[in-house]
Amino acid sequence: MTRIAILGAGLAGLACARELAARGASVTVFDKGRAAGGRLATRRAEVGGRRLQWDHGAQYLTARGPGFAALLAEAGAQSWGEAGRFVGVPGMSALPRALAAGLDLRVARHVTALAGGPGAWTVQHLDAARVRPGAALPDEAPAEDGPFDAVAITLPPAQAAPLVARPAPGLRARIAEVGIAPCWTVLAGFDTRPDWPETLRPGSGPFAWLARDSGKPGRDGSTECWVIQASPGWSRAHLEAEAAAIGPALLAALPPAPAPIHLQAHRWRYSLVEQPLGESCLWLPEARLGLAGDWCLAGRAEAAFDSGRALAAAILG
Ligand SMILES: Cc1cc2nc3c(=O)[nH]c(=O)nc-3n(C[C@H](O)[C@H](O)[C@H](O)COP(=O)(O)OP(=O)(O)OC[C@H]3O[C@@H](n4cnc5c(N)ncnc54)[C@H](O)[C@@H]3O)c2cc1C
Repeated sequence: MTRIAILGAGLAGLACARELAARGASVTVFDKGRAAGGRLATRRAEVGGRRLQWDHGAQYLTARGPGFAALLAEAGAQSWGEAGRFVGVPGMSALPRALAAGLDLRVARHVTALAGGPGAWTVQHLDAARVRPGAALPDEAPAEDGPFDAVAITLPPAQAAPLVARPAPGLRARIAEVGIAPCWTVLAGFDTRPDWPETLRPGSGPFAWLARDSGKPGRDGSTECWVIQASPGWSRAHLEAEAAAIGPALLAALPPAPAPIHLQAHRWRYSLVEQPLGESCLWLPEARLGLAGDWCLAGRAEAAFDSGRALAAAILG
């Protein structure tokens, strides 16, 4: 049986893994996160005995193609707001959890290198809790899994680049062409409802999107959980700011609200694709190594799904 390693359990990695597994391949999926999902994510908190939650990555999903529409239905997505918008229930993270069911998924594993070569790749990985963003990797021997006949790398380009540097140096220049904007995202909770619209997408200014997350289907509608996303320009200008300063700064840009009972900021260094690669995936048949992700096509979850499936088709030949 063909053994394939998938790096990344976001939508691209899950779509690739499901397609390969359905065709009889043995797939192993590695992700540094605590669960599958990547940028399809839900954060929870308990405040004063109340359970609050926010989708802090993708806000809603749209399907242009029948394949993605079928997948959303299969994973139990429900419509929200404007026609054609879908969300996971009870949170966005429910979608990737459903898609990961039955896969051999290794979570909390930070992949540090690929060793071996075509037809006999090995994946080296560390306990993700020991790896600090921006710091040198801990000086310890990694765990190793393999051999794998092929490897699918479905990480954002900047995170994929160090992994392809040795086995496929030519790919580094290709993926360096891709541009992805950062996004500071504020998760706010209130006792009483702010006088804000259910959703708002201003065309300019410091914030790009505002939504009442607790108004989505399957959430506790008696809570007031709101998501505020900064614009790409504002996020870039404040990229290295302290997280604690972000919530107050963005709240100050909105009409006055009650004092928040919860205020937290999440920095997405790689959020929405601004300059895609323009190809559905990258596949090196001699190396039996490929890359996929939303960044190949567009800044939408469906693009990640399409790219992951395209890479699976390329691997299967
Ligand atoms: C704030 C925000 C808002 C968005 N809003 C929308 C929206 O409303 N609608 C929409 O369609 N799309 C939206 N998107 C985009 C959408 O979320 C993405 O297009 C899609 O989820 C990308 O999937 P992916 O699999 O390509 O990448 P990811 O989801 O980023 O998956 C990559 C995975 O790789 C893992 N990883 C990275 N490095 C390593 C490593 N070294 N070792 C192991 N694992 C690693 C990560 O943990 C992650 O799980 C939004 C994104 C963000 C951040």
